[in-house]
Amino acid sequence: MTRRPSILLLLLLPYAAPLIARVGGGESYSGGGSSSSGGGGDGGGGAEIIFYIIRFLFWLTVNYPAIGIPVDIVVIIAVIKYLKSRKSAKETTVFSAAKTTSPARQGSRDINALARFDPNFSEAVFTDFCYSLYARAHQARGEGKLENLSPYLSPAARATLKQLGGGGVGGIVIGSFTIADFRGLESPTVTATIDFEANYTETGSQPMRRFYVRERWTLERQRDILSPTPAHAKAEHCPSCGAALQTRSDGTCAHCGTRVVDGSFNWFVRSIEVRERSDRPPSLLGHAAERGTESPTRYQHGFQEKFPAFLARHPEFDAQAFDQRVRLIATELQSAWTARDWERARAFETDALFSMHRYWIDEYKRQRLVNVVDDFTIHRVEPVKVMSDTFYDALTVRVYASGNDYTVDEGGNVASGSKSAVRTWTEYWTLIRGRAAKKTITTTRNCPNCGAELKVSETGICAFCGGKVTSGDFDWVLSRIEQDESYSG
Ligand SMILES: [Zn+2]
Ligand SMILES: [Zn+2]
Repeated sequence: MTRRPSILLLLLLPYAAPLIARVGGGESYSGGGSSSSGGGGDGGGGAEIIFYIIRFLFWLTVNYPAIGIPVDIVVIIAVIKYLKSRKSAKETTVFSAAKTTSPARQGSRDINALARFDPNFSEAVFTDFCYSLYARAHQARGEGKLENLSPYLSPAARATLKQLGGGGVGGIVIGSFTIADFRGLESPTVTATIDFEANYTETGSQPMRRFYVRERWTLERQRDILSPTPAHAKAEHCPSCGAALQTRSDGTCAHCGTRVVDGSFNWFVRSIEVRERSDRPPSLLGHAAERGTESPTRYQHGFQEKFPAFLARHPEFDAQAFDQRVRLIATELQSAWTARDWERARAFETDALFSMHRYWIDEYKRQRLVNVVDDFTIHRVEPVKVMSDTFYDALTVRVYASGNDYTVDEGGNVASGSKSAVRTWTEYWTLIRGRAAKKTITTTRNCPNCGAELKVSETGICAFCGGKVTSGDFDWVLSRIEQDESYSG
């Protein structure tokens, strides 16, 4: 079995990078695919020793019960304690294994728990915020204007960025975004660790240089504050008063005079660690084993009650139309991927996901490769999870698909994969829709707001009605794709 290096994989955001890394032979990009054993490690030699110990205890108990029985009791207690600790050790092993192989969104389940303290918290909005801040931060360091972002970036974080140099930074594209860790819910301050993979061009030097980078950002904020609404969530507003971000040289807001130096009002970047910065592009060829396709579906805990409850709250929800929309999106993404034309997919995904897909499609163009999936077929779309926050409903489905997947160079020669071998795979797709969206589901290539034929700008704005169709304000849009092995439910 080889791994399809296809759209549904590569374009698959955060997950794509480590796969490519594995494929490319463990250079840069992401933790690499080691770990992931989990169980089965200690058998062999240990079993033999245990056998002799039990035989000795049996002999001792029969021949010298006064010594044997107390020893038995001690051993039994020790064994129970060992098994208990082993169980928790195993849980952590599985967790850390999942973490290395699936950076997708470990810990994000926890970050959703923040909604218990902050009813405005929305993972989708938080993701947008991180994207926006990342791009702004690198742009600002290119312009030598990092101080303007001091309400969001600590002196240490700004210093790290400043060291990278100025002179212009452009073409900032995020290829992967991972909530690697989230903690602190039991304390007044919560901390989120975010791993970015991105590329950008530094225009200050001649010739201009393109960099592929991995960065770890540590963000913190007060647990008990209220998140801004989606409209104010893009790091372009004063965290304190919400006016357009305009920071005076002493770090105070030009409007409200507040000097923001921590997470008292919103997320605040405590530190940035540049883990990799290289001008070597990621490899787009090669294979890794397809894993998890046969795994049983991971349903949300309580899904049997939660999904009917969602349907009861939304009597107008047309499950068949939703199914059709997922298939439409899948087909459009696949076509866009092979044509290396992201405009075509633009209307169907959130800004964040679009950015990730563009990262990979640009890379295919740069490396003069085309990934093709012939006979692309969606077999089944199965709802597995439903979530709602203040601003969005989110539905996750498991998508079953197959096709002949291969990559060709621009001369049409197969560079990897196979034209004849049929591959099957499944993925978990999460779609979001604004809570205030109108309720009909569009299943054709038409604007979900005005009904005109789809024609959207790079920012997702309909050319006819001016509606931002990628916001989820009008219809379901794709916000996340996760592989079987990375999907954590
Ligand atoms: Zn202010
Ligand atoms: Zn429109």
